[in-house]
Amino acid sequence: MKTETASFRALVTGATSGIGLAVAKGLLSLGHTVFMTGRNGPVLDRLLLEANDRGWKASGLACDLSRREEVERLIDTATEVLSGRIDILVNNAGIATFGSIEETTPEDFERLIAVNLRAPYLLSRAILPIMKRQREGLIVNISSVAGLEAWAGSSLYSMTKFALRGLTGSLLAEGAPFGVKTVAICPGYVATPLVSGAPVPETEMIQPEDILRTILYLKDLSPAAVSGDIVLKRLGGL
Ligand code: NAD
Repeated sequence: MKTETASFRALVTGATSGIGLAVAKGLLSLGHTVFMTGRNGPVLDRLLLEANDRGWKASGLACDLSRREEVERLIDTATEVLSGRIDILVNNAGIATFGSIEETTPEDFERLIAVNLRAPYLLSRAILPIMKRQREGLIVNISSVAGLEAWAGSSLYSMTKFALRGLTGSLLAEGAPFGVKTVAICPGYVATPLVSGAPVPETEMIQPEDILRTILYLKDLSPAAVSGDIVLKRLGGL
């Protein structure tokens, strides 16, 4: 049985905070190469300096994923820096807005679609062919339990997270013949700044490192084993 994963190259979006930060740091600390991207340039610069001080193989680019041209620049830069090889793409960056449908605005709609959906689409569209040529790869889309179920007040967020699972299904089917897997991870509350106002204490939430563990588990599965959705529920509720 395989117990060790060889060193790989990953691209992680939303790597400056929360889940993405835990995933990027965790992969780097295990000796993997990570291209990090986030919206906050100064935070990203500090993280890259810290990582390089530790001898980690980190690189990155600040990017606003709501802007199509910036996503395209990110794709060009990341593929060049990673020398055209990408073993894992983590489409993690995301934003949320909650409120009744009357409280949402068309501007919120555009923003959530751009960040939560168009950016993963553009990144997957560019990187799946690279993985197909490699004949291996893993695309991880961070959806949510709100991508499995919708509630009053979750319309825009749920809409994007349901759709991300739709994208996942097609990527999985198109990549599978080439050894490329795509998975949607659907967690309940994870202790990150995104849910700082949630009515659940942080200590009772899923930890960001649990998403790292899930990705490592997925990466270590044998070639034929795959899962479209991984649902991570919280003990005691959503
Ligand atoms: P977070 O707010 O801590 O981090 C979000 C990250 O996304 C940051 O790095 C930020 O820079 C990046 N980002 C946001 N907008 C961006 C933009 N326009 N351009 C570039 N980067 C941008 O949130 P988190 O909880 O770590 O969320 C990560 C993902 O997990 C999201 O997709 C979120 O929907 C999903 N998720 C979170 C929870 C939770 O309870 N925290 C539960 C289920 C799913």
